[in-house]
Amino acid sequence: MQPDRGAAAHTIVAALLLLLMGGARAQSNGSDLGFDYLLLARMWPATFCESTKCDQPTYNLFTIHGLWPNSASGDDPVDCDKSDAFSRDLLTPEQLGRMSCEWKSFKGSNNGFWSHEWSKHGTCAKPLFQNESGYFGAALALSEQYDLNEALASNGLNPLAATAATQAQVQGILEKEWGVTPILTCYKGALQEVRMCFGTDLKPIDCPGGGGSCSSKGALDLPYGGEMPPVCASYFDGVPSASNVAAPATGSSPSPPPPPSRGGRPAPGAAAALLLAAAAAALAAL
Ligand code: 5GP
Repeated sequence: MQPDRGAAAHTIVAALLLLLMGGARAQSNGSDLGFDYLLLARMWPATFCESTKCDQPTYNLFTIHGLWPNSASGDDPVDCDKSDAFSRDLLTPEQLGRMSCEWKSFKGSNNGFWSHEWSKHGTCAKPLFQNESGYFGAALALSEQYDLNEALASNGLNPLAATAATQAQVQGILEKEWGVTPILTCYKGALQEVRMCFGTDLKPIDCPGGGGSCSSKGALDLPYGGEMPPVCASYFDGVPSASNVAAPATGSSPSPPPPPSRGGRPAPGAAAALLLAAAAAALAAL
């Protein structure tokens, strides 16, 4: 993304996020909502698939695991409205297109994964996002505004080519870019998740409690996850293609991605339209 267009897009995304969460509850404090903050978990698919048996090919980029309404002091709320079942019909084609690349399930169906995330976590965020479209739209907007792959790539850690990272390096990059400390989780010495936290005003905050499960102060593996499917290239357009960076030590060199597809990640204007539609849906539900 070109810097000025990127900045404009981020401003639009931020403004629309505020609109998305607008309405009667926008001024509520965390306890009114039933949670205190939101945690955006992004995962390294190849590590996830070392921790469990997967049935889908992975790729060398962080993808979304979930957006979780959490409590700073007590149990995190889960399964808040079992009567509100997930329906992909409530999501726009643009949301579904992005999710199939940026929020992909590597174990079972996308529908199963998204349904789980909505039922367990999303229904608890309804006081802020009103409905399923508002929830998934907000998660996608946050992940775009705070683009982890792009931030790492622009600070010398291109996920398409990286094979390892230290905890200090990843934390340093997030602190530099967004001024906050994330939580890192690991599986057997490999980096599994980078978790970033947001207040109920959707501004980044240090993750409460700190912690994480990465004990090593040294290098954490980023196991090679494979090539990005060409159909996903336009959704990860902020990451320089792997042909422009050193090839990973293991695995074959990724083929060059195709030119950005208009059917892929929307251009900033289209992203704004997508968010506006989600905001309108959310406001209509008030
Ligand atoms: P959570 O950690 O959100 O409570 O649960 C995630 C659930 O989704 C687990 O049951 C996990 O097996 C399932 N799942 C399916 N596909 C994926 C995936 O690609 N990544 C992750 N993290 N979980 C997945």
